Amino acid sequence: MRKSLYLKFVLAYIIFGVFAFIIVSIFVPTMTQEHLIREKAGNLYSEAVLIADTYASGLYTSETSLETVKMQLDSLAVYLKANIRIINPSGRLVLDTNTPLNVEEVVVIEDFDPSTTAGSYYMVDDFFGNFESDVLTVLAPIISNYKIKGYVAIHSDMSVITESCNSLLNISYITLVILLLLSLIILIFFTDIVYVPLRKITYATEQYASGNMHYEFQIDSEDEMGYLAACLNFMANEIAGAEDDQKKFVANVSHDFRSPLTSIHGYVTAMLDGTIPPEQYEKYLNIVQNETDRLIKLTNSLLTLNNLNTKGMLLDRTDFDINKVIRNTAASFEGTCRQKTMAIELVLTGDTFYVNADMGKIQQVLYNLIDNAIKFSHPDSVIKIETSEKKNKLFVSVKDTGIGIPKEDLKLIWDRFYKSDSSRGKDKKGTGLGLSIVKEIINSHNEHINVISTPGEGSEFIFSLSETDEEDED
Ligand code: ADP
Repeated sequence: MRKSLYLKFVLAYIIFGVFAFIIVSIFVPTMTQEHLIREKAGNLYSEAVLIADTYASGLYTSETSLETVKMQLDSLAVYLKANIRIINPSGRLVLDTNTPLNVEEVVVIEDFDPSTTAGSYYMVDDFFGNFESDVLTVLAPIISNYKIKGYVAIHSDMSVITESCNSLLNISYITLVILLLLSLIILIFFTDIVYVPLRKITYATEQYASGNMHYEFQIDSEDEMGYLAACLNFMANEIAGAEDDQKKFVANVSHDFRSPLTSIHGYVTAMLDGTIPPEQYEKYLNIVQNETDRLIKLTNSLLTLNNLNTKGMLLDRTDFDINKVIRNTAASFEGTCRQKTMAIELVLTGDTFYVNADMGKIQQVLYNLIDNAIKFSHPDSVIKIETSEKKNKLFVSVKDTGIGIPKEDLKLIWDRFYKSDSSRGKDKKGTGLGLSIVKEIINSHNEHINVISTPGEGSEFIFSLSETDEEDED
């Protein structure tokens, strides 16, 4: 089974929580306790040095009596919540704020060796086996006449430090809980902002993958998720549209192939079974020829459209003289024009005019437009091809005075297989593909084509082309 993204996030959250707890419960207490001990030791040491310099040294110079010093140190010990002692270098206890003064009794601290504290001004231990549990001890020497006469030792019970350490740790634990709760909020936000939309998107893509292109879903956020969802919806709509177009296209192609084939089949069968007598063969063979012409034209147009679609923007752009191309294309309609007693009038800008485009394809555009103009014009009329230049663009217009296009058809004429009802009667050979080829070609050149038409008066098709950078006359 796939591992859910959500599960991974929950797992990451739990790991984060466990690690945070381990850090807070192991490292933070040690660090806090060390800090508190150092701070307390610093304070006690200053006091010890002060006592060594004042009361204690006075004791050794016999300036003050033992009783006075004891009294003063007793009250100081209460204030410091500690035990203050004065110890001789040999380890003999001179004064202890925890026990009453007794000159008779000689108390000696076994193994007393002040040098063990060398390098540190405090120690945490049982003070040479003198206490049952660990105490914090600071030791300050009492110096008189450059000699160490004794030591001031201040012992503080570790429970005081542990107590303040615990209250500080409580703060850390509360902070940890707050942090975990806050990150839980992030997890909830993540679920709502990322996970739920992602689930919707995944489900939608599964639907699209299984072919349900009409599946619609909505994500109402204006972030990347919302954008992704909108893009997916758009993509699915486009694909669904393309599928519908494809179906329509195949239906149209089949229809347009079937009618000529049916009539060819009908006439040939009738000739073979004798329904059509041999003396009428010529008439019906002409019809068959016309139908095959139509089929060839249809096939060629389909191939052209297919090439335009698959090759897309692949244009063989060159600089060429558009006037020459217009003249040649118009000349190729001479025979057709003669049959309909029509004329083509050319009004061209300059003798030569160079444009940058795919010559073959532009020739095809001109051919299709002139072909339509002739098809939909009345006999004895004139077709006018005119060029005009404006802001580095050349506009080519193919204008006829034919049947025109109804207003409601103007948008549809560019669609594949579109033939207006009025044209169907007049132009049996029409495929309805000519103008869609024209549009594809002009669009792939990043140019524009427009039509102005009035039913009964005529139509004008105008398209633009880009002038070449440097005009090359030859
Ligand atoms: P076809 O000419 O093969 O029918 P087109 O795509 O070239 O296909 O044209 C589509 C339709 O546009 C035509 O059937 C016709 O109704 C209309 N049309 C195109 N050109 C003209 C024109 N010059 N005058 C009137 N109608 C036109």
